[in-house]
Amino acid sequence: MRLAPSPTGTLHIGTARTAVFNWLFARHCGGSFLLRIEDTDRERSKPEYTANILEGLQWLGLDWDGEPVIQSQRLEQHRAAIQRLLDSGHAYRCYASEEELAAMREQQAASKQAPRYDNRHRDLSPEQEAAYVAEGRQPVVRFRIDDARTITWTDLVRGEMRWSGADLGGDMVIARRAPADRIGDPLYNLVVVVDDAAMAISHVIRGEDHIANTAKQLLLYEALGAEPPVFAHTPLILNQEGKKLSKRDGVTSISDFRAMGYTAAALANYMTLLGWSPPEGMGERFSLKEAAAVFGFERVNRAGARFDWDKLNWLNGQVLREQGPESLREQLAPLWAARGWGLADGANPVHADPAWQRQLTELLGPSLTLLADGVEQAEPFFTTPELNDAARAQLEAAGAGAAVTALLERLPEGELDADQAQALLGEAATAAGVKKGVVMKSVRAALLGSLQGPDLLATWLLLHRSGDDRARLARCR
Ligand code: GLU
Repeated sequence: MRLAPSPTGTLHIGTARTAVFNWLFARHCGGSFLLRIEDTDRERSKPEYTANILEGLQWLGLDWDGEPVIQSQRLEQHRAAIQRLLDSGHAYRCYASEEELAAMREQQAASKQAPRYDNRHRDLSPEQEAAYVAEGRQPVVRFRIDDARTITWTDLVRGEMRWSGADLGGDMVIARRAPADRIGDPLYNLVVVVDDAAMAISHVIRGEDHIANTAKQLLLYEALGAEPPVFAHTPLILNQEGKKLSKRDGVTSISDFRAMGYTAAALANYMTLLGWSPPEGMGERFSLKEAAAVFGFERVNRAGARFDWDKLNWLNGQVLREQGPESLREQLAPLWAARGWGLADGANPVHADPAWQRQLTELLGPSLTLLADGVEQAEPFFTTPELNDAARAQLEAAGAGAAVTALLERLPEGELDADQAQALLGEAATAAGVKKGVVMKSVRAALLGSLQGPDLLATWLLLHRSGDDRARLARCR
C-alpha cells in the first residue's frame, strides 16, 4: 500500500481520506504503508507543502513505514524505462508542434469528435524523423495505445472493470519535449508505474478520478513486463450539492480543520466513514485501530460520499468528552489563560484553581463541539456579562426583582451546596410571591446575562465558589 501525494498544495481531505483507506488496509493485513512524494512538477512543488503533508499525516495518526520515497530522485530510473519502451517499439518520438496539435483539436471540435491525438507520428520513417530534427523540432515521447485493445481489471471496490483503448485519447505522452537525442521530463502515468513496480506495491488504493489512468497504467505494466498491482478506486468526497468537493467549498485542507479546532481522532474517524460503512454493531465512533481490525473493501461504497459537517461535529464532541474532564481542563486552561482569565493581576484567584476549573469543564463538557466552544461558553464564568435583551426583560417581569432581593438576603457568605441552593430558590419564591420557575429564570438572567446556558444550579454553585454570584445578583435587585 502507498500514498503518493503531490506536494503542490497542503494536505487535502481527499488525499488524507485516501491515506486513511491505505493505512487501514495495510494495518488490517499486516502489510506496509509507504509514502512517495510525487514532486516532479518542479514549478508547483514546494518543500513547505511536503512538510505540511507529512505533518498532517502524522497528526492524524497515519504512521508510514520506512522513509518516504522522493520521486524526483528517481529520474534516472524513469528515463531508463522510457528508453526501454523506445527500444522495444512500445514508444516513439512525436514531432507534432503545439500549433499542429491545436489545429488538430480544433478540427475535431468542429466535427464534434472527442479530442484525441490522431497518432500521426506513430510510424515515421527514419528520413521523416531526420527531416523534423533538421527543422529543429523537439519531440515528446509517446506510448502506443492500441485502439482495439480492451483493458480489464478486477477492482476491489467497483468489481469487473473494462476500458476501451479507443477511449484513452490516442498514444499518450510519457516524456515532455526535449532535443531528439535526449529524453525530456517523464510524466505522471509512466513514473507512477515505474515507482510502484520498484516499490513492489501490491495494492493501489486511490480516488476514482484515477480510473482512466489505471487503464493506461495497466498497458504500461504490460509493456514494461512488470506485475501490476491490485487496484481499489474509492468514491469521491462530495459537497452538499453532490459535486466533487473542491477548494471553493471552503475548508478542505487538514491543517485548516486542525486550526478550526477539530481533533485528529474525530477527523480520522470521520474520514473513515466517508465511503466505508462499519459492520453492524460497531457504531460510528471508533479509533483507526478499531477500524483497521475489521476493514475491508467489501464495505466501501461505490457512490460518492457527501461531506456532513453535523456528523463531524458530533464525532468531535464525542472525542472531547471521551478524554475525561481533567484532560479537557488541561487543554482548555491555556486557552483561558491566553484570554487573560484567572491570571491577570488582581484577577479572582479561584478562577485559576484547578478544582474550580474542573467543575467548570464538567459543566460545559456535554455541550462542546469544538475545544474553542469551551472558551466561548466559559466567558461568563470568568467575566461578568452584560445583560442581553431577554435577560433584561425577564428581570423587569413582576416579582423578579423582589425574588432576587429575597435570595440575596438569604445568600450565605460561606459554602453553598445543591440542596441549600434548591431550598433558597423555594424560599425566595415564597417571599416574593412568585413561582419557583420565575426565580430560577431571573437568577439565570442575573448570573449569566442571558436566558440560555448550562444547568442553573451547577452554574450558580460555581459562581458562588468564585464569589461572583453576589455582585451579579445585586445589580439586578
Ligand atoms: N500524485 C498523484 C495524486 O496526487 C498520485 C495518484 C496515485 O495514487 O497514483 O493524485
